[in-house]
Amino acid sequence: MKAVISFSLVIGLSLGFYSPVHAVGASKFTPLTLDDRLVKWGSAKIGTPAHVTYAFVEGPIVQQDARNCRAMDSLERIARRTGHSIDEIKAETAAAFQLWDEVSGITFSETENVSEADILVGAQSLPRGYAFTNVQYEKDGTDLRERAVGGNRGLNKPELEPGEMRSRSQDLTVAGITRSAVCLNPAHDWKIGFDGNLDNYDLRYTFAHEIGHAIGFDHHIRHRSIMHFKYAEGFRGLQPGDIEGVQWLYGPAAD
Ligand SMILES: [Zn+2]
Repeated sequence: MKAVISFSLVIGLSLGFYSPVHAVGASKFTPLTLDDRLVKWGSAKIGTPAHVTYAFVEGPIVQQDARNCRAMDSLERIARRTGHSIDEIKAETAAAFQLWDEVSGITFSETENVSEADILVGAQSLPRGYAFTNVQYEKDGTDLRERAVGGNRGLNKPELEPGEMRSRSQDLTVAGITRSAVCLNPAHDWKIGFDGNLDNYDLRYTFAHEIGHAIGFDHHIRHRSIMHFKYAEGFRGLQPGDIEGVQWLYGPAAD
């Protein structure tokens, strides 16, 4: 079977029509919406930075309320099959986090505290697909419409100028992500680097894609993007739309 299958699924992912969320030109990225809310780490305000920790799962764990990555285990399972050392695999993971970190206001650091970490990284205990991401978020989001009105609740919201496109984001609330998990299928032959074999995925590319979900992005197919659902080996880093997206959601990188 050709590897044109879904690269990952995200909790609550709608397969219906997606409107671009922001109205400035043609969107080159697609924010994740869960229950009609945008999701991000940190403050529930678009364009604000966040610091996120991640931990490598060290042994079998079960997240009962997770839809994806419910049962996870150590990446040792991938190391054993692929022959890559656990340190090499962790270095590829760190490099993938760094891709998003270096261009935007979201920063990452590794922690050994699995129970406190924001993002868990590990192998699936029950192999399926290639890789999945689970995103959990708070149930009460900040309403952007209320935020736009601010303290002037007695005033009517200003009407849009004629011809001004209404941003979809004005109709969406933002929910804070509370925890994410990224899990890889240990039954596949994961590799480091590209070799043209599209049945065998590069670890760094895969982690970068799944981390994109874990921080609030959905699949994007209209432009070159690391968030395309189909695995390809044309590029190994973020594309202009990915950078535009992460800067829109988390602001620019700090100096
Ligand atoms: Zn995906």
